[in-house]
Amino acid sequence: MRWSDFAQWGRRVSDWAVNYHEGLRDRPVRAQTKPGEVAAALPVSPPDAAESMETIFADFETIVMPGITHWQHPRFFAYFPANAAPASVLAEYLVSTVAPQCMLWQTSPAATEMETVVLDWLRQAIGLPEGFAGVIQDSASSATLAAVLTMRERALGWAGNTSGLAGQKQLRVYCSREVHTSIDRAIWVAGIGEENLRRIPATGANRGMDADALDKAIRADIADGFLPAGIIACIGGTGVGAMDDLTAIMPVAREHGLYVHVDAAWAGAAMICPEFRHYWEGIEDADSVVFNPHKWLGAQFDCSAHFIRSPDDLVRTLAIQPEYLKTHGAEGIINYSEWSVPLGRRFRALKIWFLVRAYGLDGLREMIRNHVDWSGALARRLGAEPDFEIVTDPVLSLFSFRYMRDGAEPDALNLALVQAINDDGRIYLTQTRVDGALVIRFTVGAFSATEEDVKTAGDVIVEIARNLEMPHG
Ligand SMILES: *Cc1c(COP(=O)(O)O)cnc(C)c1O
Repeated sequence: MRWSDFAQWGRRVSDWAVNYHEGLRDRPVRAQTKPGEVAAALPVSPPDAAESMETIFADFETIVMPGITHWQHPRFFAYFPANAAPASVLAEYLVSTVAPQCMLWQTSPAATEMETVVLDWLRQAIGLPEGFAGVIQDSASSATLAAVLTMRERALGWAGNTSGLAGQKQLRVYCSREVHTSIDRAIWVAGIGEENLRRIPATGANRGMDADALDKAIRADIADGFLPAGIIACIGGTGVGAMDDLTAIMPVAREHGLYVHVDAAWAGAAMICPEFRHYWEGIEDADSVVFNPHKWLGAQFDCSAHFIRSPDDLVRTLAIQPEYLKTHGAEGIINYSEWSVPLGRRFRALKIWFLVRAYGLDGLREMIRNHVDWSGALARRLGAEPDFEIVTDPVLSLFSFRYMRDGAEPDALNLALVQAINDDGRIYLTQTRVDGALVIRFTVGAFSATEEDVKTAGDVIVEIARNLEMPHG
């Protein structure tokens, strides 16, 4: 395979991409493969002789594609979306062709300067005030890790990186029970330890952290000789969309001088619509905010927008400047690798630039508003069925429900239902637990979803539920 053959294959792949997207509704959303099937179809050893692109491509279609769960399927209602809008795919195509490394300004000036500009576009788009600086992290998990490291170093007077944590006061970080597991991982990796991540009970319909309980926990920890470092607030929890009340948490944080990181990985995209910003009222006082344009917004994975109040604190935590990474003779430039854990960085700003220009903020707002409306309509429809119960009301486009049948154990019934739905393949849903009970989640987010797709989802759910045969015993 040489560049001289590339044009032919590039055209073939683009045609394939368009056909794939046009035919998605005919494919089962979740892969219907058995564990081990794909591996069994692959040779155990690598080829010594070169193979033709024709053979490789044929194998891609016969071996790989049947084992794919179609995240771009318009009837993907599981997890949260991981959209790849066509304009952002084009940008990625260009980026993978040019393949620059964007760790320093001088290793890719255009990537660095565009990153500064498009992150500021996003800042304005989601209504964050001036004074937040943005950086693209590969994922929300990485942004949260960077924030946790920053809160750790700030609390330790910048001594953690040099002296380690042994001999320091034991750190404490606070969050609700609704946060994503990436918070736990960041706490582990930062050396703080799971036992020092204090889970504050969530209260109310929004399942937000109880601010009084938070304040009491901090005071008790200080009295017991611990060192509180920060709070991680959740705007749009992964289970059922829990929303912490920032207006209640921020005063507690300020009183104790704690760093606040806000995880809005999924819900942040909806803040491009001013009518949803009430969910994160108080956000202007956060120290760090992450949201994923690679989820709902449509920038293909990976692309996490991380906004920070004080980039100096982040850089002080993460920057290392050996001689070979110094850029001499250029003042006032940003080297974004000093803002993140990995050194090497892809040119991710380009897909944001393509995305926002190709659809306009208005186009993206319309998509999000539609998803919220369609999801709300489906929740009302299921709620009106005698044998369905809405367990958590829609938060943006996410709600959860249960199917009820006399004599059937509810958890087993709903697990059987979600499995039957996914085996059917017309739609894809996932489950979670709410106060111990197994519930089915529903969220509209696919870039190509239509109102018809959401109505189909309602038909499929009701049809499969009513025909569900429960195993006896
Ligand atoms: C998806 C999600 C994450 C993790 O995002 P990655 O970018 O995959 O690391 C973290 N927090 C919340 C609330 C999420 O929904």
